[in-house]
Amino acid sequence: MKQEEQDCIFCKIVAGELPSSRVFEDNQVLAFLDIRPITPGHTLVIPKQHAPNLAKLDPGIGGEIFKVGMKIASALRRSGLRCEGVNLWLADGKVAGQDVFHVHLHIIPRFSGDGLRIRAGPDYGKMPPRDELEKQADSITQALKSS
Ligand SMILES: [Zn+2]
Repeated sequence: MKQEEQDCIFCKIVAGELPSSRVFEDNQVLAFLDIRPITPGHTLVIPKQHAPNLAKLDPGIGGEIFKVGMKIASALRRSGLRCEGVNLWLADGKVAGQDVFHVHLHIIPRFSGDGLRIRAGPDYGKMPPRDELEKQADSITQALKSS
């Protein structure tokens, strides 16, 4: 096992070396409750194999993580826990708010008055001119072609 895996709290959870309240598990994916939940039932879905970020994650496993996330979102709505809506949130990179460098998808039950807010910067809501959108779309399209 590599050093970054030995030091990774999620790898320790997968290995059973740290406790977790598991809600789902298969060969590739593990889901367990966040120990610092935003709302009750806040669940994390992770690949069992260590991947520090999306660039290092097998896309097939990424698909499995999202599928499990969808199942958990549906289950939360039927669980009896307060859940009037759900956010799926994945932070990729420190600047995006990633705190544990083992890919994890948050499944966050939402309800009226839960207090969670996502605040955007001062430019949010302003509509850039179409040619600016076209330039950005072209940059992304070119990057997709070179991947
Ligand atoms: Zn890990």
